[in-house]
Amino acid sequence: MYDLVKKAVLDPYAAWELSKMDKSPAEIVEAVSRLDRDEAMKLGMNFKRFPLGCDLTEILVGTCASDLDKIDILGNSILSDSIGASIHVCAYAFADIAEANGMRGIDLFREVRENTEVPLDLDHFGKFGPMRFPKDITGCWGQCYNEGPPFDGCPRDRIHSRLIDKEEDALGEKDEWIKLSSSVAINLTCIQGAEGHAAPLDEAIEVAQLGKKYGKGIEAIMFVGDGYEDLIKGFTTAIDMGVDVFVIEGGPFNLAENRLDAFARAIAMARILVPGKIVVTNGAYEDECRVGLRAGLNGIITGFPKNHHGYMCGYSPGTARRGKFGLPRIIRIIKEEVQEDLTKAPIQKDELESLARAVKVVDPVNVYPRKIGFAPVGDAHWVCLPSTPIYERVTVKRTVHDIRKMAEEGKIGDSIALLGGRFASWVIAKELEGYVDQITISDIDPWVEKISVENLQSELKANIYTGNSDDNAAYKNSETAIVCTTIPSISNKISKNLNDAITLI
Ligand code: SF4
Repeated sequence: MYDLVKKAVLDPYAAWELSKMDKSPAEIVEAVSRLDRDEAMKLGMNFKRFPLGCDLTEILVGTCASDLDKIDILGNSILSDSIGASIHVCAYAFADIAEANGMRGIDLFREVRENTEVPLDLDHFGKFGPMRFPKDITGCWGQCYNEGPPFDGCPRDRIHSRLIDKEEDALGEKDEWIKLSSSVAINLTCIQGAEGHAAPLDEAIEVAQLGKKYGKGIEAIMFVGDGYEDLIKGFTTAIDMGVDVFVIEGGPFNLAENRLDAFARAIAMARILVPGKIVVTNGAYEDECRVGLRAGLNGIITGFPKNHHGYMCGYSPGTARRGKFGLPRIIRIIKEEVQEDLTKAPIQKDELESLARAVKVVDPVNVYPRKIGFAPVGDAHWVCLPSTPIYERVTVKRTVHDIRKMAEEGKIGDSIALLGGRFASWVIAKELEGYVDQITISDIDPWVEKISVENLQSELKANIYTGNSDDNAAYKNSETAIVCTTIPSISNKISKNLNDAITLI
């Protein structure tokens, strides 16, 4: 395994071969641990590329805190929504604010949903519904983050002090919270030796099962810990539970001798192992955020002042404390560390709209965890988006079913050019199985072209060719050309000189 991993550092084709193999967390952790930090970062970035991993970088924003006024949680949520940032929901804080306003927690949550359209990422949710904590916990100034590693159990006995009576009172609302959410987080640090920090594993399993029952993406929060055994335990449990997204926490929970080597390696390992292709951090000091982003991190959870995520990322021991407004700082850090390519970093509303359009075009039934060839179609985002108002709002001109209907009516011909080699083209190619003999894939990125051709050829009978990144030649050599992107500016640019090319949007 080490030889293959080492090869995948420099060779994206070797990375593709590695992605197709069955791998155990133990062998990946062992192999990546032998790489130096630069190698681990290169490896992680290879696995952030299409189609090995989600290539977007995003922010998720905690808009709540137990002692916020209702007007502030609503305003914070509307502001997050307007910049296209998913809202990270600390269920206990929603419940506390609702209680202070004589409301049920679920009614405040619904009000936030009605005022926003981005994904809602539900956290701090237990077997009765929103977890509830005493005031000295919800008002914690961030003691463990401020003090720095090593974390030796929460000095405030956070989870053991849950207000179970209050939780039980809201039991009837439980399913409704999950239904309104796009994804649900569970905390696996209990199996990494931090029983005092998280709910027991049984409770995490129960919440994950409920999330799955309603078709939501499941995120597993785990620590870097010692950077080796703790990660094997976290990755193994998460994969056994069928989790989609890995959330890696550093900060005081990074106990490795060399913190930054360990954080970069943990992100690279997670990139290779994560089923839903998205790796996020929920707690990482500024230096960890930077090496993590260079190692292929997809997202950082941050927050408004008073929200505990507001200080958990982007600060340092001594400066991390409650009250910090991490959101602008995290945007700046991402801008400094991530080179923008097809999408902005972090992604904004228009990118989220394009992603929602892509899911609409291909139909949610065809996306992750369903595979074409060796790779799932899309990633965990593709699962989360259909339960959002933004998905309801966006429109598309044609879906893959419309294109199949055109083929049934003889309007496509025997040869097609798919301009843009990403997931939409894969599903279109599959949908046209039996109707066309020749498919040419043209994409600006030769690697995307080659992998798409190889992957589709492994599953389809039609002859599939690379277009050598020449849309015009692919168009001329085919009876029908389909522009497969759902990003309006790119779709317009490709189709501008190709009069009768079919567009999806
Ligand atoms: S921030 Fe740290 S010290 Fe404060 S309640 Fe949470 S785990 Fe405990």
